[in-house]
Amino acid sequence: MTETLGESPKPIRSRRNVRGMRFEEMNQWTMDSPEDSDTPFGVREYLQTTLRQRNQATQALIEVPPNVDPNVWVYEHLREVCIELNFFIAYLRDECTRESCPEMVVGEWRFLCAAHRPPQSCAALEYIVHTHNGATSCLTDIKHFPFLARVPERSMKMLKDIARRLDRVFAHAYHNHRKTFLNFENHYRTYSRFSALINRYSIVQANEQTMPELARA
Ligand SMILES: [Zn+2]
Ligand SMILES: [Zn+2]
Repeated sequence: MTETLGESPKPIRSRRNVRGMRFEEMNQWTMDSPEDSDTPFGVREYLQTTLRQRNQATQALIEVPPNVDPNVWVYEHLREVCIELNFFIAYLRDECTRESCPEMVVGEWRFLCAAHRPPQSCAALEYIVHTHNGATSCLTDIKHFPFLARVPERSMKMLKDIARRLDRVFAHAYHNHRKTFLNFENHYRTYSRFSALINRYSIVQANEQTMPELARA
């Protein structure tokens, strides 16, 4: 007699922090794929869960999961980079001042801030904060990114513009605030992920990147 074994049901793991949970118990769930989610935000939840585990190599973190549109994957990664940029700004705030950095410079380049019409010169930290605000409001604007499963072609140009400016933010810190950049990077690895992403998916061409080549992923 042949016995047919039915597939045993997957154990249901709660992906929520609940009241009364101990700190070390929080955010401890895992996901094998975006399809594990029971919400429409599967790709975002999967990416956030994977990033929290912090034990994966950078290249593995940016590999697009099966059945996910690569442009959506890039979009979700850039959203996370912007969230982490909040912490980076807090790291930089005390030393990137109007006195130390009265203009947005990266090596010999000077950049005007696109948050103004027409673009104008801002102190580096202001450029960084304005760029961060502009990127965040663009990425969360349903007009530009109305779908969870695909990115409209016209919005890809916006992603590329945002990524080009974010590259300058990291490069400014690398050139002018190296110790702080490295402290932040040791903890969050935001730039290495960002750099691997923009190169892997050709979001910013190599000759448009301002970070020195030796520091890129
Ligand atoms: Zn500075
Ligand atoms: Zn500005």
